[in-house]
Amino acid sequence: MRRKLVAGNWKMHGGLARNRALLDSLVQAVGTGGSADCAVCVPFPYLAQTQELLKGTALTWGAQTLSEHAQGAYTGEVSAAMLADFGCRYVLVGHSERRSLYGEGNETVAAKFVAAVQGGLTPVLCLGETLEQREGEITEKVIAAQLDAVVQAAGMNGLAKAVIAYEPVWAIGTGRTATPQQAQDVHAFIRARLAESDVALAQRLQILYGGSVKPQNAVELFGMADIDGGLIGGAALVAEDFLAICAAAAK
Ligand code: PEP
Repeated sequence: MRRKLVAGNWKMHGGLARNRALLDSLVQAVGTGGSADCAVCVPFPYLAQTQELLKGTALTWGAQTLSEHAQGAYTGEVSAAMLADFGCRYVLVGHSERRSLYGEGNETVAAKFVAAVQGGLTPVLCLGETLEQREGEITEKVIAAQLDAVVQAAGMNGLAKAVIAYEPVWAIGTGRTATPQQAQDVHAFIRARLAESDVALAQRLQILYGGSVKPQNAVELFGMADIDGGLIGGAALVAEDFLAICAAAAK
């Protein structure tokens, strides 16, 4: 069975005092590690604090985006090597908010994915369709295009170093979760598409579900055959909720 991973996406939330309280609670409860992995993806300025508080614990951490460039005159950007300096294991790539609010298309997402892998990070590649696309019955076409762009740029060897997160845009931050079956269908589609190139890799790759995951729906979602954990937004900011979701993944 694939190991499960629960990754929290704090988005642009946090503050030194609040982070400390949240991370301390997670460290105390997660202890020395269970049968699922738990990670937090924090805003850049809090990476040093996160590293200080989580180093040597069972929790891992990461960032929410990165530059596609390794270095240079790119004011405001942060490279993979800089994230690695702060002990990041993960970096989100292609989150729908980056795609829709910051104009990151499939090509940019693929370039960022490659930069993450080259920098020794594990990209969490986010894929997902809008409500309009789902209603237009082009979900699979959209997901395939998002995935193929990355496979083309990074190859299956690159993909082997990643985690995928299926996040239907209409379910992110809306309280409207995909049903376990809706999520499972897309996860199975992603796995089948990857299996066309590499059956063994398709079988072992972790595919997380994200979109209004809460303690109340986590067990059912994580119980589906192709759902290997979750990418959690709102519920990752409340220690009790995030821990309950991590516990659901460990079942
Ligand atoms: C997310 O930010 O990736 C996300 C899934 O958010 P939420 O859990 O709040 O829907």
